[in-house]
Amino acid sequence: MQETMRTWAEISLDNLEHNYRAIRAALPQECRFLALMKADAYGHGAVAAARRLEECGADYFAVACLAEALELRRAGVKAPVLILGHTPEDYTPILIAENLTQTVTCLAKAVEYSAAAVKYGGTLRIHLKIDTGMSRLGYLVAGQHFEQGVENIVSSCTLPGLDAEGIYTHFAVSDEEGEEARDYTLRQLELFRSVIAAAQARGVSFRVRHCANSGGVLNYPEAAMDMVRPGLLLYGYGDGGRLGLKPCMRLMTHVSTIKIYDAHTKISYGGIYETKTATRVGVLPIGYADGLFRCLSNKCEFYTQGGFAPQIGRICMDMCMIDLSRLPQANVESTVEIFGPNASLDKLAAEAGTVPYELLCAVSKRVPRVYI
Ligand SMILES: *Cc1c(COP(=O)(O)O)cnc(C)c1O
Repeated sequence: MQETMRTWAEISLDNLEHNYRAIRAALPQECRFLALMKADAYGHGAVAAARRLEECGADYFAVACLAEALELRRAGVKAPVLILGHTPEDYTPILIAENLTQTVTCLAKAVEYSAAAVKYGGTLRIHLKIDTGMSRLGYLVAGQHFEQGVENIVSSCTLPGLDAEGIYTHFAVSDEEGEEARDYTLRQLELFRSVIAAAQARGVSFRVRHCANSGGVLNYPEAAMDMVRPGLLLYGYGDGGRLGLKPCMRLMTHVSTIKIYDAHTKISYGGIYETKTATRVGVLPIGYADGLFRCLSNKCEFYTQGGFAPQIGRICMDMCMIDLSRLPQANVESTVEIFGPNASLDKLAAEAGTVPYELLCAVSKRVPRVYI
């Protein structure tokens, strides 16, 4: 079946389960596990991934927006789902009816959700997000803003129609090496703990306190608290081999045509590559519309029978070329791994000047996901 597909992404749910269990085994017994499902589960397919993880006992899921949360509910996922981004307060009845958990990032929004929930006659479950140094979303609490920040957090929690189940913050550099990143992360953690303690002193406590993303889980075991929130790690990347995680996606294509070009032939748009000697060139039906970044042109190599083949010439929308001169065993129909167990996604991301996250999310909807 796969040989008849142009380009496809093999998804191993068994590897996902393996990663889930390996990460879980490294956590304190009572720590809950929130699995990141945003951006279609980092390109792996949110419905399939969430179903498998729910079977394995994942406690919580998180998504970026309401539409992603509803996709999980429509697919029958029952576990709690946290929406990390903003949802307009008009949708409060849907949030309540679908048993979704909404992130609240400031007092003004808490007031809006409270009014909407009271009007609807229900209770909205919320997690408060605290800005401890990511400088993105969340209650401002750093430095001179501490007292007012805590005041706003406490006020938010006492509003009618809201159940403030959780509180969380997000690390900016927990996946980076070096003393500076370590200090910054520990200061974020310390500030988060101080906010929780100050709220507690005013009679407000939270059932679920969480802050650890993948970097937090790997590098700061003391940050596990009541729940962890790994994304990239769960899909088998960013581990550095420490937990023995396995990549869940293998982006595959095949050789559709092979021709031997003479020396001094320009290959593809712009003629940025010229053959030096007679060159055996394979055409692959994958291009930037599938998620293979054009900026990788002439800079990367892909794995096929026998070894790695350098990519040559500009990557086009739907196709690109590779040099098969040194891989005589590769033929028309040979499969080619763009990234996966043999061809490192981290290496490809570095060649593209980006992070593995972006390449995973870029695998477009034209590429069928094949669950193996
Ligand atoms: C995306 C995200 C995560 C997971 O990040 P990873 O680096 O993939 O582990 C955790 N928390 C929040 C708020 C996020 O947006």
